[in-house]
Amino acid sequence: MSKELLEIKDLHVNAGEKEILKGLNLKINKGEVHVIMGPNGAGKSTLANVILNNPEYTKGIFMSFQLPEEIPGISTMNFLKYAKNKITEKPVKVFEFRDTVKKYSEELNMNPKLIERNLNVGFSGGEKKKNEILQMLVLNPKLAILDETDSGLDVDAIKIVSKGIEMFKNDDNAVLIITHNTRILNHLKVDYVHVLVNGQIVKTSTAELAEQIEETGYAQYKK
Ligand code: ADP
Ligand code: MG
Repeated sequence: MSKELLEIKDLHVNAGEKEILKGLNLKINKGEVHVIMGPNGAGKSTLANVILNNPEYTKGIFMSFQLPEEIPGISTMNFLKYAKNKITEKPVKVFEFRDTVKKYSEELNMNPKLIERNLNVGFSGGEKKKNEILQMLVLNPKLAILDETDSGLDVDAIKIVSKGIEMFKNDDNAVLIITHNTRILNHLKVDYVHVLVNGQIVKTSTAELAEQIEETGYAQYKK
């Protein structure tokens, strides 16, 4: 069985006249955790959206959003049940499903009342982010893309998000974390760190690269 989950070769993306991604290459295998770092406007969210919207990849990809939407009229629990039903052949068993959602929400230190409330409505920033991690765990995709899931989180919440990612990870799936913040990496085992500048991945290395960027910034990669 192939270990390859995603391969992007020479990806170019334009928005109107502007070229945003300029020949980007990225390969992700099962069992790997990848991190993409890069300055504002480099094209990170664009890359995440292209992966998510490509019909070749639509099956089994989950993406957490930089700014999760508030959706009045549907509770988190019902949203999850609906989404899970959409992606599995067999209808979910309601009580078993509730137990699974409860178990994960407890692991993430979420207030149990949150999952009965309208999706993200009135949730704090941290609660929204935890809710995204809950969705990732429950929906169990092949590839999870987390776009700045850690931004605006306090230290405790960052630890919980890391814990959720560790719980999710297995030999058969992969995680792509987009972040500015190396704090989230303190609690996670990361296989590759990529630097995305000006629409291209200009460097790929191991976790130490993140620490180096923390100290020196992106200046050396912007030519
Ligand atoms: P990042 O997530 O790395 O901060 P983005 O991928 O959001 O960067 O954006 C990359 C660049 O492309 C930015 O300069 C942004 O303004 C521009 N951009 C993104 N989407 C569009 C769009 N739909 N139309 C025009 N420009 C866009
Ligand atoms: Mg972004």
